Amino acid sequence: MYGTGILKGLGVTLKHFVDTYIEDLRWLGRKRYGSPEGIAHRASKGSRGIFTVQYPEEKVPLPEEFRFIPFLVYDEGQEGEKILRCTSCGICAKVCPPQCIWIVRTTDPSTGRPIPDPAEYYIDADICMNCGLCAEYCPFDAIKMDHNYELASYKRMVFDKETLAKPAAYYESIRPINATAENAARAAKVAARAGKME
Ligand code: SF4
Ligand code: SF4
Repeated sequence: MYGTGILKGLGVTLKHFVDTYIEDLRWLGRKRYGSPEGIAHRASKGSRGIFTVQYPEEKVPLPEEFRFIPFLVYDEGQEGEKILRCTSCGICAKVCPPQCIWIVRTTDPSTGRPIPDPAEYYIDADICMNCGLCAEYCPFDAIKMDHNYELASYKRMVFDKETLAKPAAYYESIRPINATAENAARAAKVAARAGKME
């Protein structure tokens, strides 16, 4: 029968409209807007009706797999020095679909041979499409997708190695499940290698 689709659609709209007020009544008296509990509820699957997030005062919690412009992970040395995990192998630059990664390898001045450490590393953040392929393909867990999406700027955003570098602790804080699994895999590899050498 003609018009049933339209009626179904209107029914869904009406349900959302009514649910919005039912939810508001359920949360009456509680600090709905701005409270972490309220925001978490509105972002959850259990939320009903329509809601507005008062950004930037309110922010919806990000899921672990959320991805924005990549960053380079560094570990801290014994004297607090930043040791980038990147070996400048170039895999990320090769797989990057819009080709927005540019790496210059360090070379040994006496032999001219490459050293596994980037002399320069740039990402053109204006071109990056946040696909995450660089992070997926990096064999050294050296590049990871960030959660910081507040990067709007009037200037061209070409990030160098210093800007891109963030500590492993930061990575662990935004992606705890991934980081735990990767740390365990790395520890297992080291143990296996040590076992072979005995
Ligand atoms: S970030 Fe990873 S894939 Fe890219 S050059 Fe460094 S080690 Fe290689
Ligand atoms: S996220 Fe995608 S587009 Fe951005 S640098 Fe990585 S591979 Fe390139």
